[in-house]
Amino acid sequence: MRYEFKDGLEFVRSLDKSDKLFNLRNRFYLKPDEIYMDGNSLGLSSKDAEKALLKAFDVWRKEAIKIWGAEDGYYFNLSKKIAEKLKSLINADAEEIVVLGSITTNIHQALTTFYKPTKEKYKIIVDELNFPTDIYAAKSIIELKGYNVGDVLVEVKSRDKRTIKEEDIISKMTDDVALILLPSVLYRSAQLLDMELITKEAHKRGIIIGWDLAHSMGSVPHDFKKINPDFAVWCSYKYLNAGPGATAGMYINKKHFNKSVGLKGWFGSKDESQFLMSHDFDQDKDANGWLQGTHNIFSMAPLDGALDIFNEVGISNIRQKSLHITAYLMYLIDNKLTKYGYIISNPREDHRRGGHVCLEHEEAYRISLALRDNNIIPDYREPNAIRLAPVALYVSYEEVYHLVDILEKIIISKEYEKYSLNKVTVL
Ligand SMILES: *Cc1c(COP(=O)(O)O)cnc(C)c1O
Repeated sequence: MRYEFKDGLEFVRSLDKSDKLFNLRNRFYLKPDEIYMDGNSLGLSSKDAEKALLKAFDVWRKEAIKIWGAEDGYYFNLSKKIAEKLKSLINADAEEIVVLGSITTNIHQALTTFYKPTKEKYKIIVDELNFPTDIYAAKSIIELKGYNVGDVLVEVKSRDKRTIKEEDIISKMTDDVALILLPSVLYRSAQLLDMELITKEAHKRGIIIGWDLAHSMGSVPHDFKKINPDFAVWCSYKYLNAGPGATAGMYINKKHFNKSVGLKGWFGSKDESQFLMSHDFDQDKDANGWLQGTHNIFSMAPLDGALDIFNEVGISNIRQKSLHITAYLMYLIDNKLTKYGYIISNPREDHRRGGHVCLEHEEAYRISLALRDNNIIPDYREPNAIRLAPVALYVSYEEVYHLVDILEKIIISKEYEKYSLNKVTVL
């Protein structure tokens, strides 16, 4: 889509004025003098998340063991309650969603369920730009099955080291491929893959396909009734704002409910048999069969609270602002920053990009440090990328404007030169 933008504070302020989501900022704990651009790594805390967490603690304090039965079994059924709030974000049925683990453990859970190699069909397709933990999980299952990683793992290469071409993925879908694991949005370049096309092509060839929604859940709506993937995983601490290490999620397509769960646990039992303490696993009839141990109530309660805002506003409105505010950021960068060696490396088309802008610069590392000292929190990724996420729920257009001014100032004043080139970890 083409947007009409102008430079200047007056125009920016008019954007904030007409932003229907603007007041939602008040529900988040923003620091008055800080601009937070790192919601793609760790979303901000909110009053909604805090309230739900404190409430769970209070119920524990008052009820002790009876917490499981309190409020009509709310906490015992917390995964189901949260699934009801998550379903509109991916257009799936609540029965297809469970809340457990982390992305890493949920990929293990999915792969142990779905990776059933045969002599003819045993390869796993991944992409060379995916996040390391996804690849480690894929390598684990290959080793657990007694194969050599080199014989089984097919890595789709990037032509430009930033993005992956859909056609390059499809061309790797040979008859010997059993399973595909890909990210919806690439964590570095923010490229949004054509999930519907890739899933369709996989299914044509009898290949199981799962998606990692780490960088799209809560930012990009998905229509799983249309895409029809076999499984998906995501975390809750990025765009879902549920807090560091908050319990993650998993989608199991209902056509697989009859599959035997890979990593079984007693919370995956049917409700009526869970407390019979039989050693025969009586798998629940839907995605709840994939649950494992006791719910992590204090890592799930903030998610329960944080999701309310998504259902009030609607994920399509969040996406609309996200596309608009990132487009505005790119407009300002094009106008003011490219002459200083800044390069926008995410795809430009709306249907091919997620919620952040990937800004490259040969001095990206030291610029990130200088941004921090200017009270702007960016996110740095090796070797030369600054990821900037103006999250729709809590970042204003004026903050984006200010960010670009600071990015310019840091170069003109050579402020970044005062920092050492020796890198320290985690930015
Ligand atoms: C953030 C992220 C992860 C993190 O995995 P955890 O198990 O939640 O620590 C994994 N994969 C991708 C693609 C990510 O962006």
